[in-house]
Amino acid sequence: LVSRKVKQDDTVLDIDGVRIGGNEPPIIIAGPCSIESEEQMELTAAFLKSKGVKILRGGAYKPRTSPYGFQGMGVDGLILGSSVAREHGQLFITEVMDTRDVEVVAEYADILQIGARNMHNFALLREVGRARRPVLLKRGLSATIEEWLYAAEYILSEGNNEVILCERGIRTYEKWTRNTLDLSAVALAKQETHLPVIVDVTHAAGRRDLLIPLARAALAVGADGIHVEVHPSPATALSDNEQQLDFAGYEQFSAALSSLMRVA
Ligand code: PEP
Ligand code: MN
Repeated sequence: LVSRKVKQDDTVLDIDGVRIGGNEPPIIIAGPCSIESEEQMELTAAFLKSKGVKILRGGAYKPRTSPYGFQGMGVDGLILGSSVAREHGQLFITEVMDTRDVEVVAEYADILQIGARNMHNFALLREVGRARRPVLLKRGLSATIEEWLYAAEYILSEGNNEVILCERGIRTYEKWTRNTLDLSAVALAKQETHLPVIVDVTHAAGRRDLLIPLARAALAVGADGIHVEVHPSPATALSDNEQQLDFAGYEQFSAALSSLMRVA
């Protein structure tokens, strides 16, 4: 179902007027790694709104490497994220990690995110396939392109055609980046499927100094959008404090991309 052999024309999502894919200008999904407080979300949403960002991200359920790391605010985070996004006329995207949470996350989020670590969680893929919400599907840490596209197929096969593919870097032997951004996967996914494909530069690079060149490269190979983490005070963030942009950093980032964004 994801194949271009089945559907030749690009799938263009229209999520409350925000259009993603096809010939639409690339979109930006931005916001903090984790939802931490009302003040943090308010500041971030207001700033990003002033920069034209229409999709606000923020994790309420966090897939942390250590069980002792900050695990997210859960339902309180969902309530906060969705209300702040709504106040600013933005869509809210957040990760769902457990089949038992799909219903509540779908109640608050406009887009459900499947994280890299859950790309192979077929029960969860089926469950979001039955939810009436668009799904952003990250590529697994060590997933082949074929496995990634089959994961999308799980969602479509349950009747949900609103899937956005997201390349976020894969594990290689390289240590100077957190992951290795696989641009050929972006070009291939665009070629093989009709789905929108976006690139998460933050989790790919794991370092701020590469975000601009990687985002430029992603747009050059045809990505339909960029996903980037932005936090009012990255140094004190409860997760991913090495890689989130502060507001000044985001201003530079968006200025550097503006000529490639074809924003109306
Ligand atoms: C995230 O976007 O919050 C995240 C945890 O990313 P990934 O699943 O790509 O590691
Ligand atoms: Mn993060």
